[in-house]
Amino acid sequence: GTKSYSFMLRTKNPGGKVSNKLYTVMDDLADEFGIGTLRLTTRQTFQLHGVLKKDLKTVMSTIIKNMGSTLGACGDLNRNVLAPAAPYARTDYLFAQKTAEDIAALLTPQSGFYYDMWVDGEKIMSAEPPEVVKARNDNSHGTNFPDSPEPIYGTQFLPRKFKVAVTVPTDNSVDIFTNDVGVVVVSDADGEPQGFNIYVGGGMGRTHRLETTFPRLAEPLGYVPKEDILYVVKAIVVTQRENGRRDDRKYSRMKYLLSSWGIEKFRTVVEQYYGRKFEPCRELPEWEFKSYLGWHEQGDGGLFCGLHVDNGRVKGTMKKTLREIIEKYNLNVRITPNQNIILCDIRKAWKRQITTALAQGGLLKPSYVEPLNLTAMACPAFPLCPLAITEAERGIPDILKRVRAVFEKVGLKYSESVVIRITGCPNGCARPYMAELGLVGDGPNSYQIWLGGTPNQTSLAKPFKDKVKLHDLEKVLEPLFYYWKHKRLSKESFGDFTIRMGTEKLQVLVDKWEGV
Ligand code: SF4
Repeated sequence: GTKSYSFMLRTKNPGGKVSNKLYTVMDDLADEFGIGTLRLTTRQTFQLHGVLKKDLKTVMSTIIKNMGSTLGACGDLNRNVLAPAAPYARTDYLFAQKTAEDIAALLTPQSGFYYDMWVDGEKIMSAEPPEVVKARNDNSHGTNFPDSPEPIYGTQFLPRKFKVAVTVPTDNSVDIFTNDVGVVVVSDADGEPQGFNIYVGGGMGRTHRLETTFPRLAEPLGYVPKEDILYVVKAIVVTQRENGRRDDRKYSRMKYLLSSWGIEKFRTVVEQYYGRKFEPCRELPEWEFKSYLGWHEQGDGGLFCGLHVDNGRVKGTMKKTLREIIEKYNLNVRITPNQNIILCDIRKAWKRQITTALAQGGLLKPSYVEPLNLTAMACPAFPLCPLAITEAERGIPDILKRVRAVFEKVGLKYSESVVIRITGCPNGCARPYMAELGLVGDGPNSYQIWLGGTPNQTSLAKPFKDKVKLHDLEKVLEPLFYYWKHKRLSKESFGDFTIRMGTEKLQVLVDKWEGV
Protein backbone atom coordinates (compact mmCIF):
# COMPACT_ATOMS: atom_id res chain seq x y z
CA GLY A 1 0.00 0.00 0.00
CA THR A 2 0.96 3.66 -0.13
CA LYS A 3 2.15 3.54 3.47
CA SER A 4 5.31 1.76 2.45
CA TYR A 5 6.45 4.72 0.34
CA SER A 6 7.82 7.81 1.96
CA PHE A 7 9.48 10.53 -0.04
CA MET A 8 11.99 13.19 0.70
CA LEU A 9 11.22 16.29 -1.27
CA ARG A 10 13.53 19.21 -1.86
CA THR A 11 12.64 22.66 -3.05
CA LYS A 12 14.71 24.85 -5.29
CA ASN A 13 15.35 28.39 -4.09
CA PRO A 14 18.41 30.07 -5.61
CA GLY A 15 20.30 31.88 -2.86
CA GLY A 16 17.91 30.46 -0.27
CA LYS A 17 15.35 33.14 -1.06
CA VAL A 18 11.93 32.21 0.32
CA SER A 19 8.88 34.42 0.03
CA ASN A 20 6.58 34.96 2.96
CA LYS A 21 3.88 32.99 1.18
CA LEU A 22 6.13 30.04 0.40
CA TYR A 23 7.34 29.86 4.00
CA THR A 24 3.83 29.62 5.39
CA VAL A 25 2.87 27.07 2.74
CA MET A 26 5.90 24.88 3.56
CA ASP A 27 5.16 25.21 7.25
CA ASP A 28 1.62 23.95 6.66
CA LEU A 29 2.70 21.14 4.33
CA ALA A 30 5.15 19.86 6.93
CA ASP A 31 2.28 19.42 9.38
CA GLU A 32 -0.27 18.15 6.93
CA PHE A 33 1.78 15.78 4.77
CA GLY A 34 5.22 15.50 6.35
CA ILE A 35 6.53 14.59 9.77
CA GLY A 36 5.73 17.96 11.33
CA THR A 37 9.23 19.41 10.99
CA LEU A 38 10.81 21.53 8.29
CA ARG A 39 14.41 20.88 7.46
CA LEU A 40 16.68 23.59 6.12
CA THR A 41 19.45 22.10 4.00
CA THR A 42 23.10 22.87 3.33
CA ARG A 43 22.02 23.93 -0.18
CA GLN A 44 19.64 26.60 1.08
CA THR A 45 16.47 24.66 0.43
CA PHE A 46 13.66 23.07 2.39
CA GLN A 47 13.40 19.34 2.71
CA LEU A 48 10.13 17.68 3.60
CA HIS A 49 10.58 14.21 4.91
CA GLY A 50 7.96 11.51 5.12
CA VAL A 51 5.69 12.61 2.29
CA LEU A 52 3.60 9.63 1.19
CA LYS A 53 3.46 8.68 -2.48
CA LYS A 54 -0.27 9.33 -2.67
CA ASP A 55 0.29 12.91 -1.42
CA LEU A 56 3.25 13.71 -3.63
CA LYS A 57 1.31 15.35 -6.42
CA THR A 58 -0.71 17.53 -4.04
CA VAL A 59 2.42 18.62 -2.21
CA MET A 60 4.40 19.30 -5.38
CA SER A 61 1.69 21.30 -7.06
CA THR A 62 1.06 23.31 -3.89
CA ILE A 63 4.74 24.24 -3.74
CA ILE A 64 4.93 25.07 -7.43
CA LYS A 65 1.79 27.20 -7.28
CA ASN A 66 3.38 29.13 -4.46
CA MET A 67 6.49 29.86 -6.46
CA GLY A 68 8.88 27.37 -4.96
CA SER A 69 9.96 25.12 -7.73
CA THR A 70 11.01 21.56 -6.99
CA LEU A 71 12.05 21.05 -10.58
CA GLY A 72 15.56 19.81 -10.93
CA ALA A 73 16.05 19.73 -7.18
CA CYS A 74 16.99 16.04 -7.26
CA GLY A 75 18.49 13.67 -9.78
CA ASP A 76 21.41 14.10 -12.13
CA LEU A 77 20.86 17.74 -12.71
CA ASN A 78 21.81 21.08 -11.46
CA ARG A 79 21.14 21.28 -7.71
CA ASN A 80 19.99 24.44 -6.01
CA VAL A 81 22.30 27.34 -6.87
CA LEU A 82 23.85 28.87 -3.75
CA ALA A 83 24.33 32.58 -3.14
CA PRO A 84 24.94 34.63 0.03
CA ALA A 85 21.74 34.58 2.03
CA ALA A 86 22.21 38.03 3.56
CA PRO A 87 19.64 40.38 2.05
CA TYR A 88 22.10 43.28 1.73
CA ALA A 89 20.86 46.01 -0.58
CA ARG A 90 24.35 46.27 -2.05
CA THR A 91 25.01 46.18 -5.78
CA ASP A 92 27.35 43.19 -5.64
CA TYR A 93 25.09 41.13 -3.34
CA LEU A 94 22.04 41.85 -5.47
CA PHE A 95 24.02 40.97 -8.58
CA ALA A 96 25.17 37.67 -7.03
CA GLN A 97 21.53 36.80 -6.23
CA LYS A 98 20.35 37.71 -9.73
CA THR A 99 23.17 35.67 -11.27
CA ALA A 100 22.24 32.65 -9.13
CA GLU A 101 18.62 32.93 -10.30
CA ASP A 102 19.66 33.21 -13.95
CA ILE A 103 22.00 30.22 -13.72
CA ALA A 104 19.24 28.19 -12.03
CA ALA A 105 16.84 29.12 -14.84
CA LEU A 106 19.45 28.37 -17.49
CA LEU A 107 20.03 24.89 -16.10
CA THR A 108 16.38 23.93 -15.66
CA PRO A 109 15.55 21.10 -18.03
CA GLN A 110 13.31 22.04 -20.96
CA SER A 111 11.79 18.75 -21.97
CA GLY A 112 8.59 17.26 -20.57
CA PHE A 113 10.48 14.22 -19.37
CA TYR A 114 11.42 15.60 -16.02
CA TYR A 115 8.09 17.29 -15.33
CA ASP A 116 6.21 14.13 -16.21
CA MET A 117 8.10 12.12 -13.66
CA TRP A 118 6.91 14.36 -10.92
CA VAL A 119 3.56 15.83 -11.75
CA ASP A 120 1.85 13.32 -13.97
CA GLY A 121 2.35 15.18 -17.22
CA GLU A 122 0.99 18.41 -15.87
CA LYS A 123 3.46 20.85 -17.34
CA ILE A 124 4.40 23.89 -15.42
CA MET A 125 5.76 26.89 -17.24
CA SER A 126 7.54 29.73 -15.59
CA ALA A 127 8.47 33.10 -17.00
CA GLU A 128 12.19 33.35 -17.61
CA PRO A 129 14.31 36.43 -18.24
CA PRO A 130 14.85 36.84 -22.02
CA GLU A 131 18.64 36.83 -21.61
CA VAL A 132 18.40 33.36 -20.08
CA VAL A 133 16.28 32.00 -22.93
CA LYS A 134 18.71 33.58 -25.39
CA ALA A 135 21.80 32.13 -23.74
CA ARG A 136 20.23 28.70 -23.59
CA ASN A 137 19.30 28.59 -27.27
CA ASP A 138 21.92 30.80 -28.87
CA ASN A 139 24.69 28.76 -30.40
CA SER A 140 26.20 31.54 -32.46
CA HIS A 141 28.12 32.98 -29.53
CA GLY A 142 30.12 29.84 -29.01
CA THR A 143 31.63 27.83 -31.80
CA ASN A 144 30.55 24.36 -31.05
CA PHE A 145 27.42 23.69 -28.98
CA PRO A 146 25.83 20.46 -30.20
CA ASP A 147 22.31 21.09 -31.51
CA SER A 148 19.56 19.50 -29.45
CA PRO A 149 15.99 20.08 -28.25
CA GLU A 150 17.48 20.06 -24.73
CA PRO A 151 20.23 22.63 -25.36
CA ILE A 152 21.91 22.26 -22.00
CA TYR A 153 21.48 18.58 -21.29
CA GLY A 154 21.40 17.09 -24.81
CA THR A 155 19.86 13.68 -25.30
CA GLN A 156 20.92 12.58 -21.87
CA PHE A 157 21.14 14.36 -18.55
CA LEU A 158 24.46 15.02 -16.88
CA PRO A 159 26.37 12.01 -15.60
CA ARG A 160 25.82 13.21 -12.04
CA LYS A 161 24.36 16.00 -9.98
CA PHE A 162 25.87 19.40 -10.59
CA LYS A 163 26.43 22.09 -7.99
CA VAL A 164 26.89 25.81 -8.58
CA ALA A 165 27.48 28.64 -6.08
CA VAL A 166 27.74 32.38 -6.62
CA THR A 167 29.20 34.84 -4.15
CA VAL A 168 30.97 38.17 -3.68
CA PRO A 169 34.61 38.67 -2.57
CA THR A 170 35.32 37.86 1.13
CA ASP A 171 31.92 36.20 1.67
CA ASN A 172 32.49 32.45 1.87
CA SER A 173 29.16 31.67 3.51
CA VAL A 174 28.49 29.46 0.46
CA ASP A 175 31.54 27.16 0.79
CA ILE A 176 32.48 28.25 -2.71
CA PHE A 177 35.29 25.74 -3.31
CA THR A 178 33.07 22.70 -2.69
CA ASN A 179 31.02 23.29 -5.84
CA ASP A 180 31.37 21.99 -9.39
CA VAL A 181 31.30 25.64 -10.43
CA GLY A 182 32.04 28.61 -8.16
CA VAL A 183 31.26 32.07 -9.51
CA VAL A 184 32.58 35.19 -7.77
CA VAL A 185 31.38 38.69 -8.66
CA VAL A 186 34.29 41.03 -9.42
CA SER A 187 33.49 44.75 -9.11
CA ASP A 188 35.38 47.90 -10.05
CA ALA A 189 36.56 50.53 -7.57
CA ASP A 190 33.09 52.09 -7.50
CA GLY A 191 31.49 48.78 -6.52
CA GLU A 192 30.00 48.22 -9.97
CA PRO A 193 30.12 44.52 -11.01
CA GLN A 194 32.30 44.00 -14.12
CA GLY A 195 32.76 40.26 -14.38
CA PHE A 196 33.36 37.01 -12.57
CA ASN A 197 36.17 34.79 -11.38
CA ILE A 198 35.19 31.21 -12.14
CA TYR A 199 36.38 28.18 -10.14
CA VAL A 200 35.71 24.59 -11.21
CA GLY A 201 35.94 21.02 -10.02
CA GLY A 202 35.03 21.08 -6.35
CA GLY A 203 33.07 18.27 -4.73
CA MET A 204 32.78 16.40 -1.45
CA GLY A 205 31.53 12.87 -2.11
CA ARG A 206 33.80 9.85 -1.88
CA THR A 207 33.69 6.13 -1.12
CA HIS A 208 35.40 4.50 1.85
CA ARG A 209 38.49 2.38 1.12
CA LEU A 210 38.63 3.60 -2.45
CA GLU A 211 41.57 5.97 -2.77
CA THR A 212 40.57 6.90 -6.30
CA THR A 213 37.52 8.73 -4.91
CA PHE A 214 38.20 11.90 -3.00
CA PRO A 215 36.88 15.30 -1.96
CA ARG A 216 38.37 18.11 -4.02
CA LEU A 217 38.56 21.89 -3.94
CA ALA A 218 37.54 23.90 -6.97
CA GLU A 219 40.44 25.61 -8.75
CA PRO A 220 40.65 28.81 -10.81
CA LEU A 221 39.40 28.53 -14.39
CA GLY A 222 39.56 32.20 -15.29
CA TYR A 223 37.86 35.59 -15.39
CA VAL A 224 35.01 36.46 -17.74
CA PRO A 225 33.17 39.72 -18.41
CA LYS A 226 29.75 39.78 -16.78
CA GLU A 227 27.70 39.58 -19.97
CA ASP A 228 29.30 36.21 -20.80
CA ILE A 229 28.44 34.37 -17.59
CA LEU A 230 25.55 32.24 -18.87
CA TYR A 231 27.52 31.24 -21.97
CA VAL A 232 30.44 30.19 -19.82
CA VAL A 233 28.29 28.16 -17.44
CA LYS A 234 26.68 26.51 -20.44
CA ALA A 235 30.11 25.74 -21.93
CA ILE A 236 31.23 24.15 -18.65
CA VAL A 237 28.06 22.07 -18.33
CA VAL A 238 28.33 20.88 -21.94
CA THR A 239 32.00 19.97 -21.37
CA GLN A 240 30.97 17.80 -18.44
CA ARG A 241 27.97 16.38 -20.28
CA GLU A 242 30.12 15.33 -23.25
CA ASN A 243 33.17 14.13 -21.34
CA GLY A 244 32.19 13.23 -17.77
CA ARG A 245 32.42 9.52 -17.04
CA ARG A 246 29.16 7.61 -17.40
CA ASP A 247 30.48 4.08 -16.91
CA ASP A 248 30.76 4.34 -13.12
CA ARG A 249 28.72 6.74 -10.98
CA LYS A 250 31.50 6.88 -8.42
CA TYR A 251 33.68 8.76 -10.91
CA SER A 252 31.12 10.79 -12.76
CA ARG A 253 31.23 14.11 -10.91
CA MET A 254 33.03 16.86 -12.81
CA LYS A 255 35.88 16.90 -10.25
CA TYR A 256 37.13 13.58 -11.66
CA LEU A 257 37.19 15.02 -15.17
CA LEU A 258 39.22 17.95 -13.83
CA SER A 259 41.61 15.70 -12.00
CA SER A 260 42.13 13.36 -14.96
CA TRP A 261 42.53 16.14 -17.54
CA GLY A 262 44.16 18.83 -15.43
CA ILE A 263 42.95 22.42 -15.46
CA GLU A 264 44.81 23.41 -18.67
CA LYS A 265 43.11 20.85 -20.87
CA PHE A 266 39.77 21.46 -19.20
CA ARG A 267 40.11 25.20 -19.84
CA THR A 268 40.99 24.61 -23.51
CA VAL A 269 37.93 22.43 -24.06
CA VAL A 270 35.59 24.88 -22.30
CA GLU A 271 37.06 27.72 -24.37
CA GLN A 272 36.17 25.81 -27.54
CA TYR A 273 32.48 25.76 -26.59
CA TYR A 274 32.58 29.26 -25.14
CA GLY A 275 34.27 30.59 -28.27
CA ARG A 276 36.57 32.91 -26.35
CA LYS A 277 39.60 32.76 -24.09
CA PHE A 278 39.48 33.20 -20.35
CA GLU A 279 41.45 35.99 -18.76
CA PRO A 280 43.40 35.10 -15.60
CA CYS A 281 41.35 35.21 -12.37
CA ARG A 282 41.47 38.58 -10.64
CA GLU A 283 43.22 38.90 -7.26
CA LEU A 284 40.70 38.74 -4.43
CA PRO A 285 40.92 39.58 -0.72
CA GLU A 286 40.90 36.85 1.98
CA TRP A 287 37.77 34.76 2.39
CA GLU A 288 35.78 34.93 5.62
CA PHE A 289 33.08 32.73 7.06
CA LYS A 290 29.94 34.81 7.60
CA SER A 291 27.13 33.43 9.72
CA TYR A 292 24.81 36.48 9.60
CA LEU A 293 23.44 35.60 13.01
CA GLY A 294 21.85 38.38 15.03
CA TRP A 295 20.64 41.79 13.86
CA HIS A 296 22.07 43.63 10.83
CA GLU A 297 21.22 46.64 8.66
CA GLN A 298 20.17 45.68 5.12
CA GLY A 299 21.33 49.01 3.76
CA ASP A 300 17.90 50.06 2.52
CA GLY A 301 16.46 51.15 5.85
CA GLY A 302 15.35 47.65 6.78
CA LEU A 303 16.89 45.15 9.18
CA PHE A 304 17.52 41.45 9.03
CA CYS A 305 17.95 38.97 11.85
CA GLY A 306 19.83 35.68 11.47
CA LEU A 307 18.73 32.82 13.73
CA HIS A 308 20.63 29.66 14.45
CA VAL A 309 18.74 26.43 13.78
CA ASP A 310 20.41 23.28 15.12
CA ASN A 311 21.06 21.04 12.11
CA GLY A 312 18.49 23.01 10.17
CA ARG A 313 15.64 21.25 11.94
CA VAL A 314 12.74 23.66 12.49
CA LYS A 315 10.37 22.01 14.93
CA GLY A 316 8.33 22.44 18.10
CA THR A 317 8.38 25.86 19.77
CA MET A 318 10.85 27.20 17.25
CA LYS A 319 8.55 26.28 14.37
CA LYS A 320 5.54 27.84 16.07
CA THR A 321 7.38 31.03 17.04
CA LEU A 322 8.90 31.52 13.60
CA ARG A 323 5.55 30.97 11.93
CA GLU A 324 3.85 33.54 14.15
CA ILE A 325 6.50 36.22 13.60
CA ILE A 326 6.86 35.58 9.86
CA GLU A 327 3.10 35.69 9.40
CA LYS A 328 2.41 38.67 11.67
CA TYR A 329 5.04 40.96 10.11
CA ASN A 330 4.73 39.52 6.61
CA LEU A 331 8.47 38.77 6.51
CA ASN A 332 10.39 37.15 3.70
CA VAL A 333 13.09 34.74 4.78
CA ARG A 334 16.37 33.30 3.53
CA ILE A 335 17.93 29.93 4.22
CA THR A 336 21.71 29.95 4.69
CA PRO A 337 24.11 27.22 3.49
CA ASN A 338 24.76 26.56 7.18
CA GLN A 339 21.12 25.52 7.62
CA ASN A 340 20.17 28.67 9.49
CA ILE A 341 17.33 31.09 8.78
CA ILE A 342 17.32 34.84 8.21
CA LEU A 343 14.24 36.97 8.82
CA CYS A 344 14.32 39.77 6.25
CA ASP A 345 12.79 43.17 5.58
CA ILE A 346 12.15 44.05 9.21
CA ARG A 347 11.20 47.66 9.90
CA LYS A 348 13.20 49.31 12.66
CA ALA A 349 9.98 50.00 14.53
CA TRP A 350 9.34 46.25 14.82
CA LYS A 351 12.73 45.32 16.23
CA ARG A 352 11.74 45.49 19.86
CA GLN A 353 8.55 43.45 19.54
CA ILE A 354 10.26 40.84 17.38
CA THR A 355 13.15 40.61 19.82
CA THR A 356 10.67 39.96 22.61
CA ALA A 357 8.78 37.35 20.61
CA LEU A 358 12.03 35.57 19.69
CA ALA A 359 13.18 35.63 23.29
CA GLN A 360 9.85 34.20 24.47
CA GLY A 361 10.26 31.40 21.95
CA GLY A 362 13.76 30.79 23.28
CA LEU A 363 15.35 31.70 19.94
CA LEU A 364 17.41 34.71 20.74
CA LYS A 365 21.15 35.11 20.70
CA PRO A 366 23.63 35.58 22.16
CA SER A 367 23.24 33.08 24.96
CA TYR A 368 20.86 30.52 23.53
CA VAL A 369 23.42 28.61 21.49
CA GLU A 370 26.73 27.42 22.67
CA PRO A 371 29.67 28.52 20.48
CA LEU A 372 30.43 25.01 19.21
CA ASN A 373 26.88 24.62 17.88
CA LEU A 374 27.07 27.86 15.93
CA THR A 375 29.28 26.45 13.22
CA ALA A 376 28.51 22.75 13.61
CA MET A 377 26.57 20.85 10.97
CA ALA A 378 25.28 17.32 10.60
CA CYS A 379 23.48 15.62 7.75
CA PRO A 380 20.11 13.89 8.31
CA ALA A 381 21.52 10.30 8.24
CA PHE A 382 19.40 7.86 10.33
CA PRO A 383 16.48 7.37 10.10
CA LEU A 384 15.86 9.49 7.03
CA CYS A 385 18.68 8.81 4.60
CA PRO A 386 18.95 5.40 2.92
CA LEU A 387 22.73 5.77 2.50
CA ALA A 388 23.47 6.34 6.18
CA ILE A 389 25.99 4.01 7.82
CA THR A 390 25.74 5.62 11.23
CA GLU A 391 24.14 8.53 13.13
CA ALA A 392 24.79 12.20 12.35
CA GLU A 393 21.95 14.62 13.17
CA ARG A 394 20.68 12.53 16.05
CA GLY A 395 24.18 11.98 17.39
CA ILE A 396 25.63 15.48 17.12
CA PRO A 397 24.08 17.07 20.23
CA ASP A 398 25.78 14.54 22.46
CA ILE A 399 29.06 14.66 20.53
CA LEU A 400 29.20 18.46 20.90
CA LYS A 401 28.61 18.14 24.64
CA ARG A 402 31.49 15.70 24.84
CA VAL A 403 33.74 18.03 22.84
CA ARG A 404 32.81 20.80 25.26
CA ALA A 405 33.72 18.55 28.20
CA VAL A 406 37.10 17.83 26.60
CA PHE A 407 37.63 21.57 26.10
CA GLU A 408 37.01 22.08 29.83
CA LYS A 409 39.27 19.23 30.79
CA VAL A 410 42.24 20.54 28.79
CA GLY A 411 41.56 24.13 29.84
CA LEU A 412 40.18 25.66 26.65
CA LYS A 413 37.90 28.64 27.16
CA TYR A 414 34.13 28.54 26.58
CA SER A 415 34.42 31.09 23.79
CA GLU A 416 36.85 28.92 21.80
CA SER A 417 35.35 27.24 18.81
CA VAL A 418 36.14 24.65 16.20
CA VAL A 419 34.14 23.98 13.04
CA ILE A 420 32.72 20.47 13.49
CA ARG A 421 30.78 18.67 10.79
CA ILE A 422 29.39 15.15 10.94
CA THR A 423 27.93 12.95 8.24
CA GLY A 424 26.46 9.47 8.34
CA CYS A 425 28.35 8.33 5.23
CA PRO A 426 31.24 9.45 3.00
CA ASN A 427 28.90 11.18 0.54
CA GLY A 428 29.59 14.27 2.61
CA CYS A 429 26.32 16.24 2.43
CA ALA A 430 27.27 18.44 5.40
CA ARG A 431 30.68 19.14 3.80
CA PRO A 432 32.74 17.41 6.54
CA TYR A 433 35.93 17.56 4.46
CA MET A 434 36.04 21.34 4.89
CA ALA A 435 35.64 21.19 8.68
CA GLU A 436 38.39 21.68 11.23
CA LEU A 437 37.12 18.44 12.75
CA GLY A 438 35.17 16.22 10.37
CA LEU A 439 33.49 12.98 11.43
CA VAL A 440 32.44 10.72 8.59
CA GLY A 441 30.48 7.56 9.38
CA ASP A 442 32.47 4.46 8.41
CA GLY A 443 30.67 1.73 10.35
CA PRO A 444 28.04 1.21 13.03
CA ASN A 445 28.81 3.80 15.72
CA SER A 446 32.16 4.50 14.17
CA TYR A 447 33.68 7.41 12.32
CA GLN A 448 36.60 8.32 10.14
CA ILE A 449 38.14 11.50 11.52
CA TRP A 450 39.28 14.29 9.21
CA LEU A 451 41.46 17.24 10.20
CA GLY A 452 42.76 20.31 8.45
CA GLY A 453 39.85 22.42 7.26
CA THR A 454 39.96 26.07 8.32
CA PRO A 455 37.39 28.42 9.88
CA ASN A 456 36.87 30.18 6.52
CA GLN A 457 36.53 26.93 4.50
CA THR A 458 39.45 27.42 2.15
CA SER A 459 41.45 24.30 2.85
CA LEU A 460 40.64 20.64 2.34
CA ALA A 461 40.87 18.35 5.36
CA LYS A 462 42.85 15.11 5.33
CA PRO A 463 41.88 11.72 6.76
CA PHE A 464 43.39 11.31 10.22
CA LYS A 465 42.03 8.09 11.73
CA ASP A 466 39.67 5.36 10.57
CA LYS A 467 37.04 3.45 12.49
CA VAL A 468 37.13 5.47 15.68
CA LYS A 469 34.34 4.06 17.81
CA LEU A 470 31.90 6.64 19.10
CA HIS A 471 32.69 5.75 22.73
CA ASP A 472 36.42 6.21 22.04
CA LEU A 473 36.18 9.76 20.67
CA GLU A 474 37.84 11.31 23.72
CA LYS A 475 40.94 9.17 23.18
CA VAL A 476 41.50 11.11 19.97
CA LEU A 477 40.04 14.49 20.85
CA GLU A 478 41.70 14.93 24.24
CA PRO A 479 45.29 14.85 22.96
CA LEU A 480 44.42 16.92 19.89
CA PHE A 481 42.80 19.69 21.90
CA TYR A 482 45.41 19.46 24.65
CA TYR A 483 48.25 20.07 22.19
CA TRP A 484 46.29 22.78 20.40
CA LYS A 485 45.86 24.57 23.72
CA HIS A 486 49.53 24.19 24.65
CA LYS A 487 51.41 24.35 21.36
CA ARG A 488 49.44 26.74 19.23
CA LEU A 489 50.73 30.04 17.97
CA SER A 490 48.93 33.16 19.09
CA LYS A 491 45.27 33.01 17.94
CA GLU A 492 46.00 29.98 15.78
CA SER A 493 42.79 28.18 14.83
CA PHE A 494 42.53 24.45 15.44
CA GLY A 495 42.53 23.90 11.66
CA ASP A 496 45.69 25.94 11.09
CA PHE A 497 47.31 24.19 14.04
CA THR A 498 46.63 20.70 12.69
CA ILE A 499 47.88 21.76 9.23
CA ARG A 500 51.11 23.16 10.72
CA MET A 501 51.72 20.07 12.89
CA GLY A 502 50.96 17.61 10.11
CA THR A 503 48.98 14.40 10.29
CA GLU A 504 51.86 12.04 11.06
CA LYS A 505 53.14 13.97 14.04
CA LEU A 506 49.64 14.32 15.45
CA GLN A 507 49.01 10.60 15.01
CA VAL A 508 52.07 9.82 17.10
CA LEU A 509 50.93 12.23 19.81
CA VAL A 510 47.46 10.69 19.87
CA ASP A 511 48.77 7.13 19.96
CA LYS A 512 51.16 7.90 22.81
CA TRP A 513 48.58 9.84 24.82
CA GLU A 514 48.19 8.82 28.43
CA GLY A 515 45.78 11.45 29.66
CA VAL A 516 45.94 15.03 30.90
FE1 SF4 B 1 22.80 10.58 3.70
FE2 SF4 B 1 25.41 10.30 3.54
FE3 SF4 B 1 24.29 12.61 2.76
FE4 SF4 B 1 24.36 11.96 5.32
S1 SF4 B 1 26.14 12.35 4.01
S2 SF4 B 1 22.57 12.74 4.21
S3 SF4 B 1 24.13 9.76 5.31
S4 SF4 B 1 24.02 10.62 1.80
